[in-house]
Amino acid sequence: MQSVRLFIGGEWRKTAETMPVHNPATGEVVASLAIAGRAELEDAVSAAAEGYRKWRNTPPAERARIMLKASALMRERMEQLARSITIENGKPLHEARLEVIRACEFFEWDAGEAVRLYGRVIPSAPGIRYIVLHEPVGPVAAFAPWNFPVSQPARKIAGAIAAGCSIILKSSEDTPSGAIHIARAFEDAGLPAGVLNLVYGVPSMISEYLIPRDEIRAVAFTGSTAVGKHLTGIAAKHMKPALMELGGHAPVIVCEDADPELAGRLSAIRKYRNAGQVCTSPTRFFVHERLFKRFKAAFAETAAKIRVGDGLDPETNMGPVAHERRVTALQDLVDNALACGARPEFGGARANRVGCFFAPTAMSEVPYEARVMREEPFGPIAAINPVASLDEAIERANSLPFGLAAYGFTHSAANADRLMNGLEAGNISINTLEASVAETPFGGVKDSGLGREGGAEGLHHYTIVKNISHKVAL
Ligand code: NAD
Repeated sequence: MQSVRLFIGGEWRKTAETMPVHNPATGEVVASLAIAGRAELEDAVSAAAEGYRKWRNTPPAERARIMLKASALMRERMEQLARSITIENGKPLHEARLEVIRACEFFEWDAGEAVRLYGRVIPSAPGIRYIVLHEPVGPVAAFAPWNFPVSQPARKIAGAIAAGCSIILKSSEDTPSGAIHIARAFEDAGLPAGVLNLVYGVPSMISEYLIPRDEIRAVAFTGSTAVGKHLTGIAAKHMKPALMELGGHAPVIVCEDADPELAGRLSAIRKYRNAGQVCTSPTRFFVHERLFKRFKAAFAETAAKIRVGDGLDPETNMGPVAHERRVTALQDLVDNALACGARPEFGGARANRVGCFFAPTAMSEVPYEARVMREEPFGPIAAINPVASLDEAIERANSLPFGLAAYGFTHSAANADRLMNGLEAGNISINTLEASVAETPFGGVKDSGLGREGGAEGLHHYTIVKNISHKVAL
């Protein structure tokens, strides 16, 4: 069995206390994970402070070189990384490989941004110069979840170290190996000790210890809105900027002029990716009533081809959900929707096999008072409802406190414009269900979060603006 250690100040550390890591497809214990106590966290803070002193003075081109080298190593180690994702998270191997590529793209994009952190010179009177600099904010405390064990940590590490910050990352205890592989790649690429530190343990203990520390200058979190609000509260109390990438409940609007077969097919493929455990997963489908039946038929036909199983089996298209607690949560949402009068289309229960499997599920004509229409399912559940107009669809889409991703299908420029203007979301995609790539800014509005990861905006959270006024005697 693998023993997963902490990475602090360039050293791999064992601890007396450990916790087991499970494969959600089989229930087997696959690793034993070291748990940080106060002493390890104290060391991580000192290491990050020391790492920051070195790294902020490392030329941006050298930072970029190390990031690109680490990314190249991860690409070389693709199979090893992908297998570890599948074993701990459950997703099919081909999705795990795509995740590794995506993580590398984050590093490669942010390496490019590292050398373009331009400031500006403000026109001024003779004898005085105003210069605006973007400097690294300082050591960052970051928290990454289990749904993308490599690409979620990668996004935070990439932004922080490209900007010249050091980082202490707590990745998910359910899927610890992804961040370990990243740390190994950076160690082998020559990243100075202390710039990247990894800890695991009791999440609330770690966040409550790290965020208030004076050495920590910024916080970044991806996870549920409830935890995000809690951590934002701690950060606010200590006047630390907080990047929050939180839950969504993404609407898909199928306009009257759209191709219902294409929309249904693409929606079903995207819905069941990573067993629906994606913050941008399409979840609430608002289909024009004239296309409703055709959309549902195409959606069901595509979903029927999904083979549920162990992600290591090459035939598998959808793996287990990450944890037994997710199976229970999903079943509660389905039972509640059916009790409210939703029409079952397919699925609706845990799959009949060992492991945390929940069948691909769709319900239609789901009453709006059902919990699944208000709470993010974060699993393989689709709710498909007919709407009479685009206005109704947009109103329904905006009716929740979430605003991460939203999607629309239309060939009409006028409808596309109404979707772009009317939908309250940080990321709107039309005729595609891709919400975020390395070169575009990603993040939410309302309860879906604060700040942006990726794109030219991706380094903003990890920098501070310093204005210099320089007077010279003429
Ligand atoms: P959860 O809210 O308990 O945990 C979500 C993540 O936050 C985990 O990685 C966990 O380790 C971390 N976390 C929890 N409490 C923390 C604390 N006090 N300090 C620091 N980190 C903490 O929920 P869960 O059961 O693991 O997942 C369920 C919900 O989480 C889903 O319904 C979904 O809304 C949300 N989620 C969102 C994303 C995303 O990509 N936005 C990813 C994973 C989970």
